[in-house]
Amino acid sequence: MNYKSTRGHDVPQTFSEILLGGLAPDGGLYLPQQYPQVSADELESWRKLSYADLAYEILARFCDDIPAEDLRALTRKTYTAEVYCNARAGDNTADITPLRKLGDEAGAPLYLLGLSNGPTLAFKDMAMQLLGNLFEYALARAGQELNILGATSGDTGSAAEYAMRGKRGIRVFMLSPHKKMSAFQTAQMFSLQDPNIFNLAVQGVFDDCQDIVKAVSNDLEFKSRQKIGTVNSINWARVVAQVVYYFKGWLLATDGPGQKVSFCVPSGNFGNVCAGHIARMMGLPIDKLVVATNENDVLDEFFRTGVYRVRKSAETYHTSSPSMDISKASNFERFIFDLLGQDAGKLAQLFRDVDTKGGFDLSGTPDYERIRQFGFVSGRSTHDDRVATIRDLSSRYGITIDTHTADGVKVAREHLSAGTPMVVLETALPAKFADTIREALGHEPERPAAFEGIEALPQRFEVMPADAAQVKAYIARHTGL
Ligand SMILES: *Cc1c(COP(=O)(O)O)cnc(C)c1O
Repeated sequence: MNYKSTRGHDVPQTFSEILLGGLAPDGGLYLPQQYPQVSADELESWRKLSYADLAYEILARFCDDIPAEDLRALTRKTYTAEVYCNARAGDNTADITPLRKLGDEAGAPLYLLGLSNGPTLAFKDMAMQLLGNLFEYALARAGQELNILGATSGDTGSAAEYAMRGKRGIRVFMLSPHKKMSAFQTAQMFSLQDPNIFNLAVQGVFDDCQDIVKAVSNDLEFKSRQKIGTVNSINWARVVAQVVYYFKGWLLATDGPGQKVSFCVPSGNFGNVCAGHIARMMGLPIDKLVVATNENDVLDEFFRTGVYRVRKSAETYHTSSPSMDISKASNFERFIFDLLGQDAGKLAQLFRDVDTKGGFDLSGTPDYERIRQFGFVSGRSTHDDRVATIRDLSSRYGITIDTHTADGVKVAREHLSAGTPMVVLETALPAKFADTIREALGHEPERPAAFEGIEALPQRFEVMPADAAQVKAYIARHTGL
């Protein structure tokens, strides 16, 4: 299986070659040269597999340059009940992503697929934990090391740190805005004592952190000498790891071949739902892919109108589902490539328009007409919707969900069809978003046992001015390169 760029650069790359990289040389995103197909019979034969072995079956079709026994060892090391141990009482932790039925609404069985039972209580652990093991394996094989540099306002940074902690050949330098994260998120990251994890608390806001990462990455000499890499959401291995739980969710929600299931995905950078699109392209019987956004509704606007309009920072809102607060969706290009019939020239033009004109307009074109063939529909949700949905699920089904999942449930309910199971992806646990839970329910969210008292643990971090030169000096001091 080789990979190509969405913008046409046609030097085929293997999975291992793109594993540690980001964008293709022409600025495009990597996609496989063709989507591997899974037949109904194969799908049926996977019903009894553990999550780890299902992950192996799917990943093996995308990375045939890793020997089978090594890949199987990697998936079995990653997807264990010990790592994904924070499921609700009554859920089957052995499933890794347990499926819980809420009830029947409008004649459709409504489910939650629990993706946030990993170490940081958010779905990013599903892919990031595998990435940590894949990186360690690939670096050892090549005799290399890697220094990951990132900026975070919470979720991604902690998922990366928990995935990379203690890994040989890897260091993580994670910038976060000093005193701007919640006490819980700060404790999650700063309580890590692993010597390969470096928390840099920058005296500034999140944008300052991001600017420093950009400045450091633009210094190509420094970047190459210090072996700097990233783990952002366009990484192909992250996307493909997420394909697995659509298969798992389908297998858990059906009992025979050909039955259709819809998925509703709380979306930001379009990484998660892009994996659903790929699962559907591989032949998984998915009816609808429902894209749920919050007030930052770039994606909902596109799917409703065909207009993709990137937001300016002043138009990007800080909401109570903060991991969906985006101004543009970095993985969106992968889907648009397929929507355009994989016409790389046309795609490159559209994304040049994104850079120069702030977007593009496909309304009224045959390309836009094709969106329904790909199963996509969408909706948006606001703070009031989140609060109402959290309250409703608590009183109706006795379950507390987080704010992002609440956006998903709200929008899913607008797209139910009788007889077709609707699976809402649960992307975080409520413990992470206590403020809104208190507002909705008047009490604290439940905390998984492992997180009791986490704020009182000793913290390890370095306060830094918002200055790229000082961050570079810090990195060089700690890598010795
Ligand atoms: C990252 C994140 C999302 C958005 O996922 P994308 O892949 O960026 O679309 C939704 N919910 C939570 C809790 C997240 O952490």
